[in-house]
Amino acid sequence: MIKVKNLVKKYQSGDSELSVLKDVSFDVKSGELLAITGRSGSGKSTLLYQLGLLDHPTSGDIHIGDIDTDQLSPDERTNFRLKELGYVFQDYALIPELTAIENVALPLIMQGQKTSEANTKAARVLDKVGLKERLHYLPSKLSGGEQQRVSIARAIGHNPKIIFADEPTANLDSETAKTVLNIFLELHKEGQTIIMVTHEPEYATLADRVLTLSDGKIL
Ligand code: ADP
Ligand code: MG
Repeated sequence: MIKVKNLVKKYQSGDSELSVLKDVSFDVKSGELLAITGRSGSGKSTLLYQLGLLDHPTSGDIHIGDIDTDQLSPDERTNFRLKELGYVFQDYALIPELTAIENVALPLIMQGQKTSEANTKAARVLDKVGLKERLHYLPSKLSGGEQQRVSIARAIGHNPKIIFADEPTANLDSETAKTVLNIFLELHKEGQTIIMVTHEPEYATLADRVLTLSDGKIL
């Protein structure tokens, strides 16, 4: 599903240069649940952002399916992200003015689906994450765990090839975190490819494979 080769990411700040990813290579299989762990500052989010095409690496190759992502034009890249990839972030990143169902339907409408179709689909995936009774709630009226479930529903609404999650349970208490984690495990069981950054060693053991980063390299 993903082939990463000799990935390098450097950040420039003034005269100094910070090497964050140092020649990282690995593959991810279709249907795999890959956990990325490592200390704070080891480059986990940076790696996820490069794989998720949210940022451009300094050098190296990222192939997703048969696509060399480096060859995509900016428009093709945006479309590819919208159609093929899904994202879950630590802070949920919901639009505060939109209800749960509107948050989930919006990316579908942006992809050209009719509002009625998008709403039907959004209601279905919200039901799937256990939020059937919360369709018309604003994020501010939902608990952290519920907000994260809305964000997972948004990430899966368009049947993405790959879901990228960056410490999706970091802001949740352990009980709620388990509920959210179980949704990922359920999706994984259904064959969804998932790449998840987590600092919880316990969660990493549930993954098919664990990739540990240390100072920008794979241990
Ligand atoms: P992790 O997610 O493992 O905690 P990050 O990938 O966020 O680590 O960060 C790795 C290193 O890169 C850190 O030293 C961080 O300060 C630095 N870094 C991350 N993003 C930027 C940026 N946009 N500009 C400069 N340095 C950055
Ligand atoms: Mg991070």
